[in-house]
This record gives sequence, structure tokens and C-alpha cells, in this order.
Amino acid sequence: MKILANDGIAPIGKQQLEAAGFTVVTETVPQNELIQTINNENYVALLVRSATTVRKDLIDACPDLKLIGRGGVGMDNIDVAYAKEKGLHVINTPASSSQSVAEMVMAHLFGAVRFLYDANRTMPVNGATEFKTLKKKYAKGVELRGKTLGIIGFGRIGQATASYALGCGMNVIYTDPFAEKATVNVTVGGQKIAIELTSSSKEEVLAKADFVSLHVPKLNQPAIGIEEFAIMKDGVIIVNAARGGVVDEDALITNLNSGKVAHAALDVFENEPTPREDLLKHPKISLTPHIGAATLEAQDRIGEELASQIKALLL
Ligand code: NAD
Repeated sequence: MKILANDGIAPIGKQQLEAAGFTVVTETVPQNELIQTINNENYVALLVRSATTVRKDLIDACPDLKLIGRGGVGMDNIDVAYAKEKGLHVINTPASSSQSVAEMVMAHLFGAVRFLYDANRTMPVNGATEFKTLKKKYAKGVELRGKTLGIIGFGRIGQATASYALGCGMNVIYTDPFAEKATVNVTVGGQKIAIELTSSSKEEVLAKADFVSLHVPKLNQPAIGIEEFAIMKDGVIIVNAARGGVVDEDALITNLNSGKVAHAALDVFENEPTPREDLLKHPKISLTPHIGAATLEAQDRIGEELASQIKALLL
């Protein structure tokens, strides 16, 4: 049986599938040639990440396809309900990347409070000629310890982020209508400490947080828009490593320009893969190109998890 891993798969996943007798092809087929290739090459499974989309037209046109696999969490690039209705298996690997995304949120926060994103832009250009000016420019950083992180959406990644933040000595508050209480495990020096947290209202979290991090799925409307920004503390820092559109990008720019929001860190964008120029060029935004889950460890976990699910479903 042949599997097309159109957005790639970690070598460990490929090996495990090949050891079970599958043929795994990792060459990327352009979106407009996918249907033809799947049918001509008799692929039974199509594995994607976020780049390839699997819509109704493809599902209808490839009757021999048995399984669609998403390496990672969000399934917005797949018509999941329709595929299931047509009898296809649709799988993903929800837990495999939480740790990596959480670390990236913390990296953005650490970078933001000490202006690392900006210093890394200006030092190569002006570091030798304006050292003292730059030293002064970046001298008003703050520490994370003792500050309050407000988390919107307390699922796998929200809780993993909370664990790091608590481990760094931050206070954590959260809002999640579906997780009234949560136990966050923090491992310090090999010891596991269980910390009980309770959900607050979104308004309370926004009003109290020094930093806000979004970990909700893509919703019908932005979780953070004009009204939500108005509730936040002056000088708040906001991180979006969830999905583009979870934070209203127009409202974000307005609030960065007014000084209400001191800084934003974005890993995800509404118009991926062509984000707005005014976001990319904004002096108060640190940026990464949707790489929250892109670590070697997460990719290995994703590959292994896909391989074991595929073996269980197709063999
Ligand atoms: P999850 O399903 O475990 O958690 C999402 C949580 O959001 C749930 O607990 C749910 O109850 C809560 N929620 C839903 N609606 C809400 C609302 N209106 N207000 C507050 N909470 C709400 O998902 P996860 O694995 O933690 O992923 C969270 C987000 O991270 C998703 O959007 C996912 O696509 C994204 N993600 C990004 C990357 C990246 O590379 N940046 C990688 C993986 C996942």
C-alpha cells in the first residue's frame, strides 16, 4: 500500500511504516496535481501538515483513498466531516507538539521583555557605530518572574505553557469555558509539583494579565478584538501562536500604534503564507513563520504517532 506524505514526515515515522510494508513517498506534489497523482499512483493514504489542503473535490475525485492524516493539531485545511461521511479515516496527532509550542511562546516572551527581536535587527547594522545609543534604547527591559500570564484557552498547549510560566516564577490565570478547573504539573529538578488552577472570566483575565497568550482553536470570530484590547492593561504584551485570525490584526495594529499594547509576538497570521506587510514590518512585533510545532522532537513524535495509527487502521 502506498502513502503520500505530501508535506513530509519524520524519518522515524517513514521507517516504521516501511517496516510494516507500506511504501512512503515524501515528494511534494503541487496542490493542483494532487488528485491526478493520487489516482495514477494508487495512494491509499495522504498525509499532510498545514500546507496541503484536502477539500471535498479531492475527496470525491479519489475514491481509493482510505485515510487522511494530519501531522499536528489543527484540521482546518481538511474537510474532516465530509471525509468521514465518505468513509475515510481522518487522523491527527494532537498531543505531539504541545511542548514545542509552549517553549516557543516562552521564547517570544523572553525575547519581548528584553527587546531581543529588535536588538537582533539593529546590532548587525549599527552595533559598531551606535553601541551606546542602542544600549540605552534597550535598557528598560523587565523580568518575567512575578508577572501575570493570562492564558486564553486552557487545553494541551495552554497548560504546557502554564507549566513553563509557573516554573519561571510567573503567576498564571486562564479562561476556558470547557475547563473550569485544571491541574498543571510542573517538573522542577526531577520533582513533580501539581498546581491547581481555576478558570476566570475572559474579562478578568484580560484586565489582570501583564502578558496574554492565545491557545484557542480558530473560532467564528476573533478571540481578541477592539473590545478585548480595551479591557487589557496599558503596556500589555500579547502572543498568538494559535491560529491566524484569533487576534484581529487590524485591532492589533491600532493598539500597538496607540501604545496600549507594548508588543506582540506572532507565529500565525490570517493570510498565511503571505502575511500583511504592515505586520511584518511593524517595529513592535516579533515574528516567526508558523514554526511553533517545528522542532525535531515534535516531528519525531508526530511521525511515530501517525505510523502507529496508520498501522492500526490500514493493516
Ligand atoms: P486543545 O483543543 O487542547 O485546547 C484548546 C482549548 O481552547 C480547549 O481547552 C477549549 O476548551 C478552549 N476553548 C475553546 N473555545 C474557547 C473560548 N472561546 N475561550 C477560551 N477557551 C476556549 O488545542 P491545543 O492543542 O492546545 O491547540 C491550541 C491552538 O494551538 C490551536 O489553535 C492549534 O491550532 C494551535 N497550534 C499552533 C501550532 C503552531 O505551530 N503555532 C502548533 C500546534 C497547535
